[in-house]
Amino acid sequence: MEKQNVPEIFGTMVFDDRVMRARLSAEVYHSLRKTIDENVKLEDHVAEAVAAEMRDWAVERGATHFTHWFQPLTGVTAEKHDSFITPSPDGGVIMEFSGKELIKGEPDASSFPSGGLRATFEARGYTAWDPTSYAFIKDHTLCIPTAFCSYSGDALDKKTPLLRSMQALNCQAKRILKLFGNEVKYVRTSVGPEQEYFLIDKEMFEKRPDLVYTGRTLFGAMPPKGQELDDHYFGVIKPRVTAFMKDLNDELWKLGILAKTEHNEVAPAQHELAPIFSTTNVATDHNQLMMEIMQKVARKHGMVCLLHEKPFAGVNGSGKHNNWSIATDTGVNLLSPGETPYENAQFLLFLCAVLQAVDDYQDLLRLSVATAGNDHRLGANEAPPAIISVFLGDELTDILEAIKNDATYVGKEKEILKLGVHSLPRFSKDTTDRNRTSPFAFTGNKFEFRSLGSSNSIACCNIMLNAAVAESLKQYADRLENAKDFESELHDLIKETIKQHERILFNGNGYTDEWVEEATKVRGLSNLKTTADAMPHLLDEKNMKMLMSHKVFTESEIHSRCEIMLENYCKTINIEGHTMVDMVRKNYLPAIEGYLYSLAKTTSLMKSVSDKVKCNYEISTMERLSELTDEILKSVEALEQALSDLKTFDDIIKTSESVRDHVLPKMENLRKYVDEAEMLSSEKSWPFPSYGKILFSVY
Ligand code: ADP
Ligand code: MG
Repeated sequence: MEKQNVPEIFGTMVFDDRVMRARLSAEVYHSLRKTIDENVKLEDHVAEAVAAEMRDWAVERGATHFTHWFQPLTGVTAEKHDSFITPSPDGGVIMEFSGKELIKGEPDASSFPSGGLRATFEARGYTAWDPTSYAFIKDHTLCIPTAFCSYSGDALDKKTPLLRSMQALNCQAKRILKLFGNEVKYVRTSVGPEQEYFLIDKEMFEKRPDLVYTGRTLFGAMPPKGQELDDHYFGVIKPRVTAFMKDLNDELWKLGILAKTEHNEVAPAQHELAPIFSTTNVATDHNQLMMEIMQKVARKHGMVCLLHEKPFAGVNGSGKHNNWSIATDTGVNLLSPGETPYENAQFLLFLCAVLQAVDDYQDLLRLSVATAGNDHRLGANEAPPAIISVFLGDELTDILEAIKNDATYVGKEKEILKLGVHSLPRFSKDTTDRNRTSPFAFTGNKFEFRSLGSSNSIACCNIMLNAAVAESLKQYADRLENAKDFESELHDLIKETIKQHERILFNGNGYTDEWVEEATKVRGLSNLKTTADAMPHLLDEKNMKMLMSHKVFTESEIHSRCEIMLENYCKTINIEGHTMVDMVRKNYLPAIEGYLYSLAKTTSLMKSVSDKVKCNYEISTMERLSELTDEILKSVEALEQALSDLKTFDDIIKTSESVRDHVLPKMENLRKYVDEAEMLSSEKSWPFPSYGKILFSVY
């Protein structure tokens, strides 16, 4: 009988701490724990013992295969299944899984993007177990979360630099904490990613080649109803969606994913799911799994889950909010204002570290969320602008202002606010969480980075965030460790940091033109509108220096990533462009032609019957549609030319600029004419389901 009770099913498919403690010998358990918590190297015999238990546990749960589960630079996860079977002399098989197989794998890596890091003849890469993320069973396969590297040690995945960035932050944060008299085992960042998505009927999906090939609609006139009534946001969830969510939650809970909050989002057919936060690399693994399982469960319910950032023009797209904080192994959240003045000073220093990081590395944060899909959202009045700024709320902003000016802080006693002397007021979440237009908002005890696209791996932005904050903390530690008078040095440091970086603070409405003007012209903040604009900044000297000095990336890894990301941008739009050409030539033009034929035939027939009929409707529609087919033809030819021009560039930066400046505008232009033709044609003559049909297909 199937178990229904959530605590009973939770984590049943995870080789988690409960299982380890119950099944491993005390000695093996403690050495593994040390590896997990303190990064101590795992001894061979421990690996053997863990592998044997993992195998037995997995086989008991019906697993027949194992795989190293990793996150190559394609942005999706990869797995290659091997069965546990080994022939036995008696002609049968036994189930085997060794310590070596647990720790290291050698997938053929030649077809994963490497950006020139690994010549194809040296196809081998290897995967290495990340014991800090628990193994789990999915589809009868034991999945071992792993990092993926080339034989020369270059990272070929998103996990390796993420773990390195967490290590960098851990190292610098511990130096700071030590100065405050806090010795901790480790400091880790935590993330709770809120995931948006669309659910549409599978039948509708399959009728739209643009959705099938690109994940978004490339054509479609606006339906009579979109999101203007705000009746979908937090609305009653439709029965089919409820059934999907129930199934999804069950699957996620079995995998130990803390699925928590679910609701309808702003656009019709749009929803959100948020888990409870966890350690960043685990949250990253879980978010990848969540996206995969959402798609799988939707199919089971006759629906398709769209994770594209902008599946439909004219209604909101989907993003992801990266709620991020830093905590010690003792459970202290370093972004939470404390009880005592000393704790507050420590809090303010960490706060400063984040402000400085976001200001100094705006471009890295921006490019960490840059994809062809997300370019449709940022700056389009539904998502934060491409300009990165920080929202702190009035209370905290006033406090920083008071410190900067050695002034009295009105919310407190009428005395100059002294760090290490006065304690700060507690910030209620309510006063900090009001601004939804800010890309980077302080929400009481964490920061919420809201610029991510729904399909982005959260690894990318957390790599940059962790590394940049590690850099601020390093500078502070270098200075404070050598201070003669710690308290006055600390005070000066905080004051100076506020002065230097206050330009990044903005509590106003980020969606306005005035802000864009002020941010770029007055404050000098960067406004990198597209992936083509943003990505090359990865190669800026200051960025490379920082990332390399914290050993988050090597020089060649940075170059390869820039290339892969730009290549991905160009390829994505290239596919979209070709899909448009295909749909226009094979379907739209012939469909309009067919409709024109019936209009023309009707007109001449009607006129032959009576010379009194004017046929105003038929003739005016025909005239406009005929003009439109001419425009469509011209536009599709122009798009074809722009796409074919791309082949002439051998430099990826130039190619991406041409995609931005030539291909995308031509796609937009072509769409405009086709959408107009849709409004003039009969529904019966139209070759694809309309926006209205797709957006309201699930009930
Ligand atoms: P909303 O942004 O919709 O108001 P919340 O702010 O309550 O929702 O939570 C959003 C996400 O933030 C959840 O995934 C939650 O677990 C996560 N979160 C809460 N506290 C922290 C924290 N200290 N560090 C990281 N994430 C957190
Ligand atoms: Mg939120």
